[in-house]
Amino acid sequence: MNYDFDLFVIGAGSGGVRASRISANLGARVGCAESTYLGGTCVNVGCVPKKLFVYGSHFHEDFEDAAGFGWTVTPGEFDWVQLRDNKTREIERLNGIYRNLLDNAGVTLYEGHAELLDAHTIRVNGETLTSENILIASGSWPVVPEFPGREHAITSNEAFYLERFPDRAVVVGGGYIAVEFAGIFAGLGAETTLIYRGPLFLRGFDPSIRTFVADELKKKGVDLRFETTVDEIIDTGGRKRLTCHDGTEIDADLVLYATGRKPNSEGIGLEAAGVQTADNGAVLVDEHYRTNVENIYAIGDVIDRVQLTPVAIEEGMCLAHNLFGSGSGGEDLRCLNYENIATAVFCQPNIGTVGLTEDEAVERFSGDIDVYESSYTPMKHTLTGRDEKSYMKMLVQRSTDRVLGIHMVGPDAGEIIQGMSVALTAEATKTQFDATVGIHPTAAEELVTLREPSRVA
Ligand code: FAD
Ligand code: NDP
Repeated sequence: MNYDFDLFVIGAGSGGVRASRISANLGARVGCAESTYLGGTCVNVGCVPKKLFVYGSHFHEDFEDAAGFGWTVTPGEFDWVQLRDNKTREIERLNGIYRNLLDNAGVTLYEGHAELLDAHTIRVNGETLTSENILIASGSWPVVPEFPGREHAITSNEAFYLERFPDRAVVVGGGYIAVEFAGIFAGLGAETTLIYRGPLFLRGFDPSIRTFVADELKKKGVDLRFETTVDEIIDTGGRKRLTCHDGTEIDADLVLYATGRKPNSEGIGLEAAGVQTADNGAVLVDEHYRTNVENIYAIGDVIDRVQLTPVAIEEGMCLAHNLFGSGSGGEDLRCLNYENIATAVFCQPNIGTVGLTEDEAVERFSGDIDVYESSYTPMKHTLTGRDEKSYMKMLVQRSTDRVLGIHMVGPDAGEIIQGMSVALTAEATKTQFDATVGIHPTAAEELVTLREPSRVA
């Protein structure tokens, strides 16, 4: 059969763009559809605008801290509209770069909603196209639970385009987005409350990190309310009144729900093509990203393995290699190694983490774990007087000397942990960390000078 394309990709986000470009560079005829925004979540309503807002929200502390170094800084005014619009201009520039990346690779872009009619046929913008292979890279979408007044809450999608910056903000949830936005709102001057249903937020992170971050956020004025949920939100003429399950009421200008994201798998014709999904909508794939339908693949948030941009990109790289590179013969197939994926949470101060948490390490090797820890005042704050601490933890398996996990809270933790993740991928031992000469004076040197374990776990 003569198909229009060798590969048709649904979604020009982190994973879809990478898979399209690399496949085209390997000689494939590639079509790609994008319904909303080039670059997907990360570029438009995710990593990039979020990090710009995080930078913006740190200035008020920087201005205060400057005094300790002899600078007189007169208090300035924060202009939300300027930050928002400068951010949007940068996003538009990036949209153009993504368009060029696809054009230059020879990918045919369709700006519209794509839907499968069967396992080889796609409809987009009223056109019917055929492709030998199809890749679902349609990402995910925020979920807001059902409760009275949920229509008064926004999600992270809207938070990037607010008309007006709130005086009082409530963030609901206890994952990445909730703690990052609590820091952004508080840093930009909103009175901020974070509501989380469990006893301590950031479930799945190392327990010491979770406690440490809670303490630091409290010091920065974020009102943390754990073990409660929102029963109802009513609009009282512009303001929102939240009634919490513990009986308390909170008035706010803005309520942001950051309660997880659902795979984007509805309305794309998966049923017509016979593609199976899990109960939560995640497209089911094997280890090489193939669905139950032989010529249809899926990567990124829509498969709901690890919802991170570099993961979607690497999955896209693997798929292009498997279909059109040296993996195309069925041998030398690649897939991502999901062990030791480093990640950062851009709360303030940042979290950087790689490898096993203490709970996971103990579960696997109870009694054989040396825990090294260090908590200290960052050098900068010796002159600013700011009460902000940093924390590091290294988990080492005693019997093998292997470093199993490194977790950190502190300025630039993500930058530091990226390097550490190379060491963990290379299966570095504690002896090798000890034999490494530090860079002085840095925070990262702490990680090569941790001498005595604080305890055995
Ligand atoms: P996406 O990038 O979402 O791309 C999917 C694309 O498919 C979208 O553009 C969508 O419009 C399109 N699409 C869907 N259906 C169709 C259709 N039928 N036809 C045509 N097009 C369609 N990750 C990090 O690593 N670091 C971070 O700091 C970080 N911060 C984040 C902050 C926020 C607020 C959010 C929400 C996410 C963040 N993430 C971060 C996660 C990251 O953005 C995602 O993991 C990543 O974008 C997933 O890539 P993807 O290619 O799977 O999907
Ligand atoms: P997460 O899955 O990280 O967190 C969801 C939070 O919402 C959890 O605390 C969860 O609680 C809580 N929750 C879920 N359902 C309800 C409910 N019905 N009522 C009350 N609380 C609820 O999702 P996010 O939305 O924060 O982020 C989505 C993903 O995007 C992240 O997992 C991450 O992969 C990615 N991301 C990455 C970033 C980065 O790399 N820096 C930044 C932002 C997002 P519980 O823990 O009890 O289940």
